[in-house]
This record gives sequence, structure tokens and C-alpha cells, in this order.
Amino acid sequence: MKKILHLLIWLIAMLFIVIVVKTLVFRSHQVRNVKAEIPDFSNDCVVHLSEAVRFKTVSYTTDSPVDTFAFDGYKNFIQKSYPLVASKLTMEVFNNFSLLYTWKGKNPSLKPMILMAHLDVVPPGDTAAWEKRPFSGENDGNYVWGRGTLDDKAAMISILESVEKLLGEGYVPERTIYLSFGHDEEISGRRGAGTIASTLKERGIHAEYILDEGMAVTKGMVPMIKKPVALIGTAEKGYLSVKLTAEMAGGHSSTPEKESALILINRAVYRLVNYQMKPRVTGPVNDFINYIGPEMPFYAKAIFANKWLFKGIIMNIYKSSGSGNALVRTTTAPTIIQSGVKDNIIPTKAEAVINFRILPGETTGDILVHIEKVVADPRVKISPFDSEKSEATISSPANAPGFQFILKSLGQTFPEAVISPTMMLGSSDSKHFTAISDNIYRFAPIVVNSEDMARIHGLNERTLISDFKRGIGFYYQLIRNSN
Ligand SMILES: [Zn+2]
Repeated sequence: MKKILHLLIWLIAMLFIVIVVKTLVFRSHQVRNVKAEIPDFSNDCVVHLSEAVRFKTVSYTTDSPVDTFAFDGYKNFIQKSYPLVASKLTMEVFNNFSLLYTWKGKNPSLKPMILMAHLDVVPPGDTAAWEKRPFSGENDGNYVWGRGTLDDKAAMISILESVEKLLGEGYVPERTIYLSFGHDEEISGRRGAGTIASTLKERGIHAEYILDEGMAVTKGMVPMIKKPVALIGTAEKGYLSVKLTAEMAGGHSSTPEKESALILINRAVYRLVNYQMKPRVTGPVNDFINYIGPEMPFYAKAIFANKWLFKGIIMNIYKSSGSGNALVRTTTAPTIIQSGVKDNIIPTKAEAVINFRILPGETTGDILVHIEKVVADPRVKISPFDSEKSEATISSPANAPGFQFILKSLGQTFPEAVISPTMMLGSSDSKHFTAISDNIYRFAPIVVNSEDMARIHGLNERTLISDFKRGIGFYYQLIRNSN
């Protein structure tokens, strides 16, 4: 007995030592002390952002008419405001309003890089509820206000400011740089980025890497990290909505049968919510753990450094919140349910729409098989719902040169931030570019806390002028670091 006890104590001590050693050698991936001479950007850039906001380049729905006056005006404004870009880069226009600039590099043996942004914005919502008018571009000395100041005119203007600056300094890149600005990102991006991507594919272009919007420099949004965290999306989830339909004889509610169309649909929805796809740690989340873990307090660091032992705990941490859960599984969200017209009539038809956001490694086909298996009732018809559908992207590696260029540039412009790859939960124009590069990163140098997140697609969108200028510096450094 005593021997067994001794052995047990010895084993626990060994385990403890292994955990501590693994925690101590859990190496940081952060770049430190990478100084750079970043120019001071004059107030012209702020004036340009304000002006950009004033063009109401709103995307409503895929079939609503385009405000050609606003979109043409915006295009002319860009050409006029960036004379060096207009004269030294080649500009091509796709479907009237999307722009592709080509800045030819010196070295044709290097693969090009692509910087992306979109020039359309979502509608302002309740205009009267805004503190400043949504298309005023008002500058109050600290912030520029209005639709697009975070998503995504800030990025587009920042890219153009940085290129104009470099051209002014006589800079010529080694690799060719494409600037791709879509005009319909908010309504699928098919006509804009989609057309640009298929043209580049026809031309046989393979890019070293692509940087599009997506994630941001976040403040107070990653648990247990006090510093700002710059998150870079290395994969995008897939998107699928399906409609469930059941039809059965109805009748008077005084003599109900055991089943009805409504009951069948209700049961199907219940089953789909209760039997979801299995949670799984994918590449981007594993990378996130490896980049964020070493920056955490010791006890949390010990958990992330010892995934082999604490996998269950890590999974439970993720599964406990909606956003955490979305990182580790294909989500199931019932969004529409329709049936019935009168309280004493059993409806003959019931419908539900369920939206799935698909984890990389699973396909829309897998989800359809899963739905059929879980619903397991031939009386419930399963059909695709008429909306966008996309496959999850592959995960782009965090050790590819493109990612390292982004890392270094962030280290130079946001040195106080922790940097990490992660899974992006939303969608971006870059999903159209999967044939152009395996290295697609989703990040725009905007700084946001959770309150600012609500401003994106919400009310009172605004950007801090000093952060906006740092964003320009980021692209300025990124171009230089990539060449
Ligand atoms: Zn956007």
C-alpha cells in the first residue's frame, strides 16, 4: 500500500514537472523591437477619408439598382485624389465600379502580392439615431464619423495613401502589387471581387499572398490578455442555408392528430439544434492557441502549453460562449420559421430555415448529409434556401512569407499589440480569390473594442484619427517589408 502511494506521489510530481517545463518552454511568437522610420502622414489623408464617406456607395440587395451617381463620383474622386497612383499604376474597371490597379514590380521572378478592400458600404439604418450624420464624414478633431470609416473605406483610403506616399518617394517595388477594390462586397462580392478574381485566374496569376479586410486590432476582446490583440484571419468559414418543408393534412384544432406539418418541422429543428456537428480544433484555432497562449498569465499559459493533457478543458472554454463555440464547430442557427394563420386551424404546411457556418475541413455536401441523417424523416423536405452559399476556405499557413511580412509590419506600427492568427467568423471578398493564392490573410489595421464592433454595420461608425494614420503606416511598411 505504502509503495503504491509512493508511486502515485512520484507520478504526480513528474506530471507537475512536465507541465511546468512545457509551460516554460512555450515559446512566444511575437515580434519585438522591430523599429521602422514611418513617415508622418499629413492631414490630407484625413480629409480624403472624410470625402470618401460622403459618397453614398451603398449596397442594398443583390437586385436593387446601383446608385451610379455615387459610385461614379467615388471612382472619380479616387482618381483625382491620388494623382501618382492614377499616372503610374494601370487601372482596370470591372462591372463599371470595381477597380484593379497594377503596380509593376522590378523583378518578374517574384510572385505578386494583392492588397484588397471594398468601396461599398451597408445602409446607415436609422439615420436620425446617429450622433453625426452617417454620410457627413465629420471630423471632430479626434474622430472621423460616418459609414465606411471602419468598414471598409478606411482600409481602401489607407492603402491608396500609402502607395501615393511611396510613389512620391520614388519607390519601385520588387514584386508586382495589385490593389483590388470591389464594389459589392456587402452583397456577396460576385460582380466585383468575383470578376476581378476570375480575370486574374484567366491571366494565370498566382499571388505570393493576399491581404483583405476581416479581423482587426482588438482591445479587451481576447480573454486574459490586457494588451491589444491584432488578429489575422487565416481561414473563412463556409455558408449554407437550408429550408425544411413539411406538408400534411390539417384540420380543426379540436380534433388534432398525433402529428402535423408544424410538429414535424418543430421536431426537425429541435433535433438539428441538439445533434450538431462535432467540435474540432482546426489549424487556425490551433495557431491561435500557439500565438496567444504564451502571452497569457502563467496558469492559463500552462493549460494552453499542455494541450495533450487539457484538451477537454480547452474545448469546454471554447464551447461555453457563442463566439468561442463558433470557432470550434459548424454552427447551426434556425433563423426563420413559418406556419399557421389562425389559432384554431391546424396548418397544412410548415417551413423553417436553418443557417450553417461551416468549419474548414467540412463541406456543404457533408452538412446536407448530416441534416438528412439527423432529421431522419422523409416527410420533411430538405432544399437549399435561396441565398449565398460558399465552401469554407483552406487554412492559410502562419509560417508563409506573407504572414511573416504582416507580422513584422504590425510589430513596427502597433508594437504594443499581441499578434495572432485566428479563424474568421464573418465573410470577405477574399473568398473569391482562393484560386489565386493559398496564402490569404484577413486583417485591416483598424482598432476596435466591443463597443466599436457594434458600430460596424450599426450606428455611429467612426474611426480615431491617430489610429487611422497608424493604419496607413502599416500598409506603407507592409509594401516595403514584402519587397
Ligand atoms: Zn467589409
